[in-house]
Amino acid sequence: MRAVVTGGAGFLGSHLCDYLLDHGWEVLAIDNLVTGTGANVRHLAGNPRFRIVQHDVSKFIDVPGPVDYVLHFASPASPVDYLKLPIQTLSGVYDEAKRFAEAMTMAYHRAHGVDTHIVRIFNTYGPRMRLNDGRALPNFVYQALSGKPITVYGTGRQTRSFCYVSDLIEGIYRLMQSDEHEPTNIGNPQEITILEFAKRIHTLLGATKPIVFEPLPQDDPRQRCPDISKARRLLGWEPKVNLEDGLRLTLESFKKQFAETEAS
Ligand code: UDP
Repeated sequence: MRAVVTGGAGFLGSHLCDYLLDHGWEVLAIDNLVTGTGANVRHLAGNPRFRIVQHDVSKFIDVPGPVDYVLHFASPASPVDYLKLPIQTLSGVYDEAKRFAEAMTMAYHRAHGVDTHIVRIFNTYGPRMRLNDGRALPNFVYQALSGKPITVYGTGRQTRSFCYVSDLIEGIYRLMQSDEHEPTNIGNPQEITILEFAKRIHTLLGATKPIVFEPLPQDDPRQRCPDISKARRLLGWEPKVNLEDGLRLTLESFKKQFAETEAS
């Protein structure tokens, strides 16, 4: 099997490449490195079944040879990136563009019978997130490691549900090989308040500075928790990694990343 993974040098894209290669696939990654980094796929350099091309996926590209799957994971995906790259974000795939892309994908499926699948991804974490990408976990970790106070926005009573990256990738792999064409939620339904989450990071990293409260960004959802009953029913999938184990694995890799950035 041969897959094209757009955003293959990003957080999720690079984990997808790893997963597919581990399952014997051939993978062509396409990435313009606007938010992704070559470091995420450096370990794949010697693999004869892997190739990466630097290219902006909002522009036409011809991929010679047969392609079994195209996995579209190219988009800036964090609030700081949207503000820095508003145009790329809209012609990549975010927010309004994400809704439009779902409608477009369904239209191609209905009108042309293209075998499409739509994953609705909820908050995901794990190694290879950028420490400076502005999202809660990398922010908290960066702040704790650099001796700054951890910033909780608003009261911290808003909730999120964090899915470890290996669970998400497994869910995507099952969904793409299923007969399901409608949008499908993949995420971890275990909900936690942001304040509680910040306290966990604070404790796990032995942070010295207190947690401080800052204004809540506009339109910040009060609650986010996926209903994964469809994925459970159709794919026999559910997350396996609990927050404690996932955080342990992620914090180890963040510490290494932090030490490398400090040294350079
Ligand atoms: N958040 C926070 N402090 C930070 C970064 C984020 O309190 O330094 C909050 C943010 O306001 C949101 C939650 O953490 O309520 C998750 O934010 P993130 O950007 O990680 O993901 P979102 O679910 O908003 O896409």
